[in-house]
Amino acid sequence: MKTSPENPYYKLFFNQKANQFKVANSTYNERLQKLDAIQRAVEVTFRNDIKDALKKDLGKPVVETEMTEIYQIVGDIKHAKKYLHKWMRNKKVKTPLSMLGSSSYIKYEAKGVCLIISPWNFPFNLTFGPLVSAIAAGNTVIIKPSEMTPHSSALMKTIVETVFTEDEVALVEGKVETATQLLQLPFNHIFFTGSPVVGKIVMKAAAEHLASVTLELGGKSPTIIDETANLKAAAKKIMWGKFMNCGQICVSPDYALVDETVKDAFIKECKSWLKEYYGENPETSDSYGRIVTTKHFNRLNAHLDDAKSKNATINSGANSNKDNKYIDPTIVSDLSDDASLLEEEIFGPIYPIVTYKTLDEAIDYIKEKERPLALYIYSKSKKNIKKILNHTKAGGTCINNNIIHYSNHNLPFGGINNSGIGKSHGYYGFKAFSNERAVVKQHTFGIAELLFPPYTNYKEKIAR
Ligand code: NAD
Repeated sequence: MKTSPENPYYKLFFNQKANQFKVANSTYNERLQKLDAIQRAVEVTFRNDIKDALKKDLGKPVVETEMTEIYQIVGDIKHAKKYLHKWMRNKKVKTPLSMLGSSSYIKYEAKGVCLIISPWNFPFNLTFGPLVSAIAAGNTVIIKPSEMTPHSSALMKTIVETVFTEDEVALVEGKVETATQLLQLPFNHIFFTGSPVVGKIVMKAAAEHLASVTLELGGKSPTIIDETANLKAAAKKIMWGKFMNCGQICVSPDYALVDETVKDAFIKECKSWLKEYYGENPETSDSYGRIVTTKHFNRLNAHLDDAKSKNATINSGANSNKDNKYIDPTIVSDLSDDASLLEEEIFGPIYPIVTYKTLDEAIDYIKEKERPLALYIYSKSKKNIKKILNHTKAGGTCINNNIIHYSNHNLPFGGINNSGIGKSHGYYGFKAFSNERAVVKQHTFGIAELLFPPYTNYKEKIAR
């Protein structure tokens, strides 16, 4: 498909395309300098501005910004700097006997001009995280952050313009129309983080140019709490993981699958930890955030209305304040099977509890749904843990914890099918933005030449 020069990003794209080989051939030291520059911007120069922007966009507590945005990005950069030399090196591989006289290696070359489309829930982390991988791999990049967090997007534009020239990295602000126009351009790789619905749109657009994609998507991530689990420790971690960023996390524990014999005790522990974390009135707590937009506030309240209309039990919370987009940390149980809370990704501070009689029933419940981004297991039973791991599929799993697998740079991060395609973080992120070019170098006479035409006398040629 030919790209129209009328496209508003045509010039930007083709300037990057013209510059791509210069960037791709940048040395290890040059890439280190770029990574250093992003690190300095995030860690020092713009650190307070990042906190302010996130306070305005998401009411994000400062400690959460430090922990889930700044610390994560700086960690990504430090990890990339430590291993970049190794990642960039050609990797020698074995060459079979039939190719005697040659040697083989993999050259990690930049894919070229890349597009990063990012969401709003961790705007800095989910934009600069993939950017670090793209830069480490030697690409040029156009970024389209989310329109839902305008202060963060504007600040990221300033940071990008401070650190890079436009023909290497550029950030374009805008809504769906902007993303649609960008997706018409023949990018070499598209790294998208967002919902499965939009992920499909991105993949269809990528197909027009056969661009490769990494799709970091979402979905309903279950947590199994079996009858052997340490309920106090489980509730402590789940209430932290679920209500951080008001549940607006892709790997947030979406819903609980609890052995029915421990349901009441588990809910009691959850309520006790909620009080410990956010006090009697979480609306006044400086450790609790807000919902990103009124649209999402209304969406979440519609879930609660639906649950109430179907006689669900509200174990805790369910109050809200439209003026400041506040919703209580809420626990709901006894939901009917058709409750919307059990059908759609919640992405907010509502935790539905579903009970099961047998572990097989819990496993079947998960298998009937789309494959999740994360699946969490709380259990002391090795047998149960093994059974769950072997009979379900998920992008990632924590055993007796949640969400922390995201922070291990040595693990691939990503989903499976509906929750994502491809992996990111650390080496896996570098790989996502690299073409693994297969190179064979012939040094001497190759034995395979004996089999060149004419084939009539090949036995004599071999015998010679
Ligand atoms: P979204 O899919 O609505 O938007 C993401 C980005 O896509 C934004 O920049 C948006 O402007 C753009 N976009 C929206 N509609 C588009 C369209 N029709 N065509 C092209 N681009 C379009 O997602 P969101 O609301 O920003 O984020 C929430 C979703 O993201 C959740 O499903 C969550 O689980 C997922 N998520 C996944 C990860 C992960 O790492 N797997 C991380 C964070 C969020």
